[in-house]
Amino acid sequence: IVKYENVHKSFGEVKVLKGIDLDLMPAEKVAVIGPSGSGKTTIIRMLMTLEQPTLGSIVVDGKNLWQMEKNDQLMDANEKHLRQVRGDIGMVFQHFNLFPHLTILENCMTAPIHVQKESKASAKNRSIEMLEKVGLGDKLENYPSQLSGGQKQRVAMARALVMRPKIMLFDEVTSALDPELVEEVLTVIRGIANEGKMAMVLVTHEMEFAQDIADRVLFLDGGVIAEQGSPDEVFGNSENERLQSFLHRFR
Ligand code: ATP
Repeated sequence: IVKYENVHKSFGEVKVLKGIDLDLMPAEKVAVIGPSGSGKTTIIRMLMTLEQPTLGSIVVDGKNLWQMEKNDQLMDANEKHLRQVRGDIGMVFQHFNLFPHLTILENCMTAPIHVQKESKASAKNRSIEMLEKVGLGDKLENYPSQLSGGQKQRVAMARALVMRPKIMLFDEVTSALDPELVEEVLTVIRGIANEGKMAMVLVTHEMEFAQDIADRVLFLDGGVIAEQGSPDEVFGNSENERLQSFLHRFR
């Protein structure tokens, strides 16, 4: 469903990604681990079209995200495709990014109504359904400021799910949470993963969780995928010394 080919990304002089090749299969769950600053967030921001690669290509559903920019007509087609791709991808961020002036129900309803042109009644019903799924059916009229960090993050998930994405991206979604709130968020992600339908890319520092949930684990180091494989391969007996020393810090 997604293919990265030789993707490079620089910010000014800083080369963050130095040749990423990655195939993501429909419904596959991929965990991305690696040291701080290794480019994990940048990889998924590019899929959400929030960053453009400096070099290389990213193909989603058979179409290249940026290649068509050269002439006007194709640019229109590309814009249309980018919009479509964004609709197929849901992203949950470290810092929730909820609208503070809207209730949690309104937070979930906004995009289906304005982006997908869904009727208000239907958007409302589906938003309630998703908020119930993440265990917040009793908080519909609350504002984000009235919720705990874990609850806010669950709203962010419901809001992404309402868009019926084919791919869900999770960017260190538990990093900003107090330790006692982490598990409730991971439990919701596990539930979504077990339904099996969506592809998922999870950038995470929760190694046990990655081991538990992922079909495949990527270890990003120095801007390249330094190691990848099944959780057993990556967490078990890899001979990659950088990976070993990275994992050591979590044990
Ligand atoms: P962490 O685990 O700390 O979140 P990460 O592996 O997710 O790190 P990225 O957030 O992808 O790393 O960032 C990789 C590098 O790119 C960092 O050195 C960061 O400072 C730099 N970087 C990211 N975004 C930008 C930007 N918009 N402008 C300039 N530099 C950036």
